[in-house]
Amino acid sequence: MKITDIKVSLLDIPYPVPLRMAPTPDVELKSQLTTLVQIYTDEGIMGVGASGRDEARVVETQVKPYLLNQDPLQLEKRKYAVRAAQAWLVDIALCDIVGKAAGLPLYKLWGACQDRIKAYASGPSKRPPEAVAEGAQRFVEQGFKAIKLRAHNWTVKEDVALVEMVRNAVGDHMEIMVDANQAAIPYRPNPIGPFWDVKRALDTAKAFHELGVVWLEEPLGRYQYRNLARLTQESDLLIAGGEGNIGIHEFRDLLEIGAYDILQPDPTLSEGLSQMRKIAAAAEMHDRLFIPHHGYSGIGLAANLQLCGALPNSPWLEYMIDPPYRTVETYQQLCGVIKEPLLIDKEGYVPVPQKPGLGVEIDEKVVAKYRG
Ligand SMILES: [Mg+2]
Repeated sequence: MKITDIKVSLLDIPYPVPLRMAPTPDVELKSQLTTLVQIYTDEGIMGVGASGRDEARVVETQVKPYLLNQDPLQLEKRKYAVRAAQAWLVDIALCDIVGKAAGLPLYKLWGACQDRIKAYASGPSKRPPEAVAEGAQRFVEQGFKAIKLRAHNWTVKEDVALVEMVRNAVGDHMEIMVDANQAAIPYRPNPIGPFWDVKRALDTAKAFHELGVVWLEEPLGRYQYRNLARLTQESDLLIAGGEGNIGIHEFRDLLEIGAYDILQPDPTLSEGLSQMRKIAAAAEMHDRLFIPHHGYSGIGLAANLQLCGALPNSPWLEYMIDPPYRTVETYQQLCGVIKEPLLIDKEGYVPVPQKPGLGVEIDEKVVAKYRG
């Protein structure tokens, strides 16, 4: 099989309502960028990949010349060009071709371990605690079994009060995770929340553990390896992170030093699917969980489902839903350009798509409408 063409589309899709993220509430976001890549072959198979940032030019100039006329099934040979350009959406598209060529959804090709994954509702928007609790109740009505909250208050007491308020609103119907987004500190133009030190992180982890929180995410900066390891060692609560770490070597170091109980890489940002499987396997060898960051779109969500469907150490799926800013329609179908949305079942799990490859089809009409 040979690659005959690579088509790249940069889509800029407006949010229904402008979004302010909890870690950066001083920045108003009006739209979500999606780069879509379609890789064509001489056997009529087309693979798709996507990411949540502008990678159109880098794919055109730094990847395409090295991939044309090459065999798309040789993932271990193609990885060098993809890694040099850090354009991992291309690896996702190549994996889609591999699955389609084999006639199997990728998770079955890779040793199917679970056919569905329990979702947790995850939304980054900044809103008052009462609105968070009300939103959590609506998620319970929709069938979600878990929600992730954001801890960005000045005091531990206020963060604890938020978790208590949500717990009172949802009772025992939901499990609760909490994200402190402390690795986002360097990107805040005008920080509105506090910078955590190890003591703040330890105190918070202790209080959250007593409230039955499942994990605390990004309690410190992503390169504070030693302090993260100390926290993970000393805390009874599971410590999670890694969504912004890049490259197989960073995850090797995070595992070797014991920085996290749960690794959360994002395959669209780092190592795609073919190389991310090695990181997941290394996490398993270190008795760590592997629960990837959300993947930025419907295609990224499908990629996470196929990856984790084949893993024994991946019990949760980050499911981006944050109405009215990010709904299933706007986030998966518009930004994610997939025809059939990936929805939770009655028990709050998302089934792994069963068609070959990633198992999703793109909507060419949406692509044509938003292509720049
Ligand atoms: Mg996070």
